[in-house]
Amino acid sequence: MKSGTIAQIAKNIREKKVSIKEVASFYLERAKQHNPRLNAFITFNDQFLKDAEKAPEGPLKGVPLGIKDLFCTRGIRTTAASRMLENFVPPYEATVVERLKKAGALILGKCNHDEFAMGSTGENSFFGVSKNPWDLMRTAGGSSGGSASAVAGGLCPGAFGTDTGGSVRQPAHFCHLVGIKPSYGRVSRYGMIAYASSLDQAGTLTRTVEDGALLLDAVCGPDSKDSTMAQRAQPFFHKNLNSRIKSMKIGCFSPENSKGENMFHPAVTEAVQKTLAVLKSRGCQIKEKTWPLLDHSLSAYYLISTSEASSNLARYDGVRYGFQSSDSSSDLQEFYGLNRGQGFGSEVKQRILIGTFCLSSGYYEAYYQKAAEVRALIKKGFDDIFKECDVVLCPVSPGPALPINQKESPLKNYLNDICTVSANLAGLPALSLPAHFTEDHLPVGVQLMGPAFGEQKLLNVALALEEDFNVWRETPDDF
Ligand code: GLN
Repeated sequence: MKSGTIAQIAKNIREKKVSIKEVASFYLERAKQHNPRLNAFITFNDQFLKDAEKAPEGPLKGVPLGIKDLFCTRGIRTTAASRMLENFVPPYEATVVERLKKAGALILGKCNHDEFAMGSTGENSFFGVSKNPWDLMRTAGGSSGGSASAVAGGLCPGAFGTDTGGSVRQPAHFCHLVGIKPSYGRVSRYGMIAYASSLDQAGTLTRTVEDGALLLDAVCGPDSKDSTMAQRAQPFFHKNLNSRIKSMKIGCFSPENSKGENMFHPAVTEAVQKTLAVLKSRGCQIKEKTWPLLDHSLSAYYLISTSEASSNLARYDGVRYGFQSSDSSSDLQEFYGLNRGQGFGSEVKQRILIGTFCLSSGYYEAYYQKAAEVRALIKKGFDDIFKECDVVLCPVSPGPALPINQKESPLKNYLNDICTVSANLAGLPALSLPAHFTEDHLPVGVQLMGPAFGEQKLLNVALALEEDFNVWRETPDDF
């Protein structure tokens, strides 16, 4: 057996060309063999082979998946990649996981990521960085780096991540995968450990567009356990996949910021140009557009996300669950301080401090409220663009996968999210798609953004591009 795509595996199982047991044993063995090199999984599901014996009928029957360790899994340790939750075994299941199981999927294990999903390299994980299968000296991206590393290394054919400011799309771009962040409200957040609730959304990491559509179909649709869900009927993305995109209107952002500087690696610019050429040859109409408030989007994102994080992470006090320090304390304040001081890593603490400051009286209007106003303007800017365009094309990230241990300043690190945070701020669907390689053969993707609940258009344009690029089959040499 070889590692394959979700569509191939599900079909082979349906047609009885291979048994679920064979598939499950193959992936378990592969994952256990390669995980020490990649550090993609934090925990394996020790019931995996047992689950394979009783997988229910469904479109994903027998398909092994990786799940970011930010989704609660009943009976399987869920750490949020933090010392704070190192030994937390949830008594309940995230809706995403429950639906995947109902569709017949098997949970192979829990994937590594930046602690509480805060980061862009995976280096903020309490369990160490996940490596990029295309170059083991580089990161698989972040925060959903373990999910991307696992799929790119062929340890599982698909995985779930979460995307608050790019955490699915950027690792996909680093690892030659399709990463889809659906519209806000498309996928239930129930049981997904919260980072910044108004921005968080579950997303998929797969090798193909078709696989992404298959996974989304299994998890989308209303859920009474998440009151922020859109009341939209269950979509049929897979059934409606169609690469005929003639006469679609595609918006394209100039690679320059307002100061006229081009901040992108040459291969990133080439990837966008290559994509434009394909779209033109397919009969699409290209319209140059200006990126709405690009210069302010990162500041708005980091003010809003840290503010929400400071509130969401207040629950980890070490009393009911989570890390409790063994040092003695003389009062309650000191007790909380020890638990939180030792339980959280430095990036998480830094963000809680920034967020608490932004929300504090006297500063709230100057910071959080201003950021919320900028966010509304960004949304309005995109609404206007989508009156004229079906989808928008742009880079995913300024460059390819970053070397491990680069030790950039936090501000420089945050700059890497410049192309991805807009979709979260505006609640829009966006995806990252393999397109190109650098001279050193590192993967480079392109990003498509669509109007709210316009996932089908995004998927169809991505499918057309995937057909013409014809690069998705390529896998890293050693895997
Ligand atoms: N890199 C961004 C951050 O650190 C995005 C992370 C995410 O999408 N979870 O906040």
